[in-house]
Amino acid sequence: MSVTEQARSSSAAGAPTLEDFEADARAFLDANAEKRPEETFVWGQGSDDVSLFPEKTHEQEVADLAVSRAWAQTVFDAGFGWITGPTEYGGRGLSSDHQRIWARVAADYRTPSMSIYGIGLGMVAPTILAHATDEVKEAYLRRMWRGDIVGCQLFSEPSSGSDLASLQTRAVKDGDEWVLNGQKVWTSGAQVSDIGEIICRTDPDLPKHRGLTGFVVDMHAPGVEVRPLRQMTGGASFNEVFFTDVRVPDSHLLGDVNGGWTVALTTLMNERAAIGGGGGGLSLPQSTRLIEAARSAGKAGDPLVRQQLAEIVINERVAGYTNRRAMAKIAAGQLPGPEMSLGKLSLTANMVRTYEAVSSIFGPALVADTGAWGTFAWTQYLLGVPGMRIAGGSDEVMRNIIGERVLGLPKEPAPK
Ligand SMILES: Cc1cc2nc3c(=O)[nH]c(=O)nc-3n(C[C@H](O)[C@H](O)[C@H](O)COP(=O)(O)OP(=O)(O)OC[C@H]3O[C@@H](n4cnc5c(N)ncnc54)[C@H](O)[C@@H]3O)c2cc1C
Repeated sequence: MSVTEQARSSSAAGAPTLEDFEADARAFLDANAEKRPEETFVWGQGSDDVSLFPEKTHEQEVADLAVSRAWAQTVFDAGFGWITGPTEYGGRGLSSDHQRIWARVAADYRTPSMSIYGIGLGMVAPTILAHATDEVKEAYLRRMWRGDIVGCQLFSEPSSGSDLASLQTRAVKDGDEWVLNGQKVWTSGAQVSDIGEIICRTDPDLPKHRGLTGFVVDMHAPGVEVRPLRQMTGGASFNEVFFTDVRVPDSHLLGDVNGGWTVALTTLMNERAAIGGGGGGLSLPQSTRLIEAARSAGKAGDPLVRQQLAEIVINERVAGYTNRRAMAKIAAGQLPGPEMSLGKLSLTANMVRTYEAVSSIFGPALVADTGAWGTFAWTQYLLGVPGMRIAGGSDEVMRNIIGERVLGLPKEPAPK
C-alpha cells in the first residue's frame, strides 16, 4: 500500500493515533521531499537576503506559484493538506495535535514556500467556514486548501484603512445578484488571486458599521481590474483593484446583509493571529546573523550594540511565550482575541529594534552598496519595516486595542 493510500485508509477507519499519524507524515515526507540539512550560519556564506517582502518579477512569481501549487496538491492528496478541516468540505477532521505534529515533522524537510496562500488560508478560508453558505463552502474550501486557487483580502480603500467601517465600495441588489462598484487598495497578492473576500457598503443610510456586507468575489469576473503598485523596496506585491459593474451571486454573501462588520472582525482577528503568531521577532538563526554582523563590523564589544542585541533576544523570548499562550487558547477552540494585537505589536517593536541595531552596527555602509556581503542587503529589511508596522492594523491602532480591550482603559475620544 502506498503512503498516500495508508494515510487515507487510517483516516477512513477513524482518527489515527498521534504516533501512527507521525509515522505516516514522516513516510510521506521521506518519499516526497528532501531532508533539511542541519543549518549552521557562517558569516559571508550563502544568501544575505533579509528582505521582508517578496521582490519578484511577475514571471518569477508565476513560476514559483506553479511549484507551490504542485506541492500543495501533493500534500493535500496524501491527506496532510487540511488536517483539522471538517470532512464535508474536504478536511480530514483530525485534532489540532495532529496539525502540530505535521508542522513539527514537516519543518525537518525542505519544501516549497506556501506564503502565497497565507492570506487565503489564514484569513479568507476561516471566514468562509464561519460565515458562507454551504454552496460557497463546497465550491471553494477544498480547492483553497488543495492550493488550486489563491485568495485575497479586499478591505482597504484609498480613504478607509484604520477606519475600515467608512469604506465606500457599493453593492446593490439586482434580482438574485449583487452589482459591485468601487475601488480597493493595498490588496496583497491580488495579481495572482482567483477569489477575494470583499466588504462593501450595502446601506448608506445606516450608521457606518451597520451598512456593510461581505461577499466572496470571483477575481476573474468581468469588471474586475487589478493594477499592481510598486513599493519602495522595488517589488510589486500590492495592488489597486477596481470594480465596475461586477456581478456577484446572492449565494456568495458572507453572513447577513448589513452584517459585514462581524464578518470583517473574524478576518481581522485571524490576520493578527497570522502576523503576530510568528514567534514575536527574529527567529534564532536571524539573531545569530545579527550577532555575526556585529562581530564582522568589529562592534561585538560595543556596549550600546550589546545592549541593543540583548533587548532583541529578550523581547523575542517574551513574545514567544505570549504567543504560545494565545495559540493554546485557539487550540482550546476559542477565537483569537485582542491579545493577538499584543503579538503583532511585539513583532513590529522587535523589527524596529533590529533596524536600530543594524544602523548602529553598519552606519553609513547601509546606504551605499560597497559589495560587502551581508551589509547593504539590510536596506531591504529597513525599507520593509514601515509596511509591516501598518499591515494588519498599525502600531497606533494596536495600542488603542490593547489599551481599551486588554487593559480596560477609557475609549479614545472619537474625532468631532
Ligand atoms: C504590507 C501591507 C499589506 C497590506 N495588505 C492588505 C490587503 O491584502 N488587503 C487590504 O484590504 N489591505 C491591506 N493593507 C492595507 C492596511 O490594512 C492599511 O494600510 C491599514 O489598515 C492602515 O490604513 P491606511 O493605510 O489607510 O492608513 P490610515 O488609517 O490613514 O492611518 C494613517 C496614520 O494614522 C494613524 N491612525 C489612524 N487611526 C488612528 C487612531 N484611531 N488612533 C491613533 N492613530 C491612528 C495610523 O496609525 C497611521 O500612522 C496592507 C497594508 C500594508 C502596509
